[in-house]
Amino acid sequence: MLANSFPSPDHVIELRGVTRRFGAKRALDNVSLAVPRGIVFGLVGANGAGKTTLIRHFLGLLKAQAGTVRVLGLDPVQDPVGVLSRVGYLSEEGDLPGWMRVDELMRYMRAFYPTWDEAYAQDLRRQFALDPAAKVKTLSKGQKARAGLLVALAYRPELLLLDEPSSGLDPIVRRDILGAIVRTIADEGRTVLFSSHLLDEVERISDHVAMLKGGRMLFAGELDEIKQSHHRLTLRFENELRQPPALGGALSWEGRGREWTAVASGRLEALTLAASAAGAEVVEQNALSLDEIFLAQVGSPSAPAEEVLP
Ligand code: ATP
Repeated sequence: MLANSFPSPDHVIELRGVTRRFGAKRALDNVSLAVPRGIVFGLVGANGAGKTTLIRHFLGLLKAQAGTVRVLGLDPVQDPVGVLSRVGYLSEEGDLPGWMRVDELMRYMRAFYPTWDEAYAQDLRRQFALDPAAKVKTLSKGQKARAGLLVALAYRPELLLLDEPSSGLDPIVRRDILGAIVRTIADEGRTVLFSSHLLDEVERISDHVAMLKGGRMLFAGELDEIKQSHHRLTLRFENELRQPPALGGALSWEGRGREWTAVASGRLEALTLAASAAGAEVVEQNALSLDEIFLAQVGSPSAPAEEVLP
């Protein structure tokens, strides 16, 4: 048996040390993650950071080359039916059968899922303004995204995985409908994990956030904690400096002469002490948006972004 009760019954997703290579490319590098039940979890990272690869592991579409994946307590590669019957998934590509009409697609999906809620499905169809007689292949990109979301939601899955749900959705659907649906699901005790490049949206609706960079997990945890552990600090030094000062936790610097502004990760008290040890006084400090944290973290040269294997 594994130590610390793996997987924990409180976690709908639990990964330990997952690594995945495509040829010489390390798409996921020793990724560990725990997603608690009943929350909205935002997954962010630059293009190619590994978000889709990670989500494909949750679905058993990819097998971890190292490490362990558990979803709803099960191994999705060993027990795909046990996992997929309880998980809703909207892929980035939205791969729906183009030859079906919207109403046929709904009937087809209903046959697969005993938990399909027809009244809810019809509500969503009306909310998403989808014509039941329209062929899927004739729908616009945004309408296809709505249809994909409808079929992922209508069987009320315990875990909803949305890969870039906002791409293709107009701002009204994104803000009013997607945001409301996602929050309702979490309020009902179910879990939503979604990847997105829209950091303001992630910040608005997520309880937890994870940030990937070059296949590595930079951090994962409660959004409030993440925000409390990043700060913008303006430091004033006694003497002019020609280059940015050395300060543990600093991710980026701007400034010159005696005044320098850093985006830094760490507890405010610890950063203030470090600044004072470096001979500076903190003259201003501000909280950061998730967008600013992302830019500082992803732009910083901390972890090697890519590793080419021998
Ligand atoms: P985006 O935001 O652009 O959708 P992402 O974070 O979802 O990116 P992934 O699609 O997971 O990133 O890709 C991670 C890395 O793995 C990329 O460098 C990508 O080229 C590579 N990769 C993913 N799938 C494959 C594959 N089937 N074969 C080869 N390389 C792949």
